[in-house]
Amino acid sequence: MSHSCDESLNKLYHYLDAELDEATAAEIRAHLEECPPCWESFEFERRLKGVVHSHLSEDMPQGLLQKVQDLIHQEKMGGSA
Ligand SMILES: [Zn+2]
Repeated sequence: MSHSCDESLNKLYHYLDAELDEATAAEIRAHLEECPPCWESFEFERRLKGVVHSHLSEDMPQGLLQKVQDLIHQEKMGGSA
């Protein structure tokens, strides 16, 4: 295995922002396919991004956006058994 989950999850954020080159994006996709926990995180972040973008205006301060994401993360960590 060439990638740790931590590394993949870290890159995943860039992947979601379309900041990765095609080779790295392919590596992330390969990892997601064989790693259900990372896939879940990916789906979660992807949906979260969609929700945030559809409900909030584009000129929302980055700090506030981060705060919303942190809150939802906390909820996810505490809520899932
Ligand atoms: Zn993983």
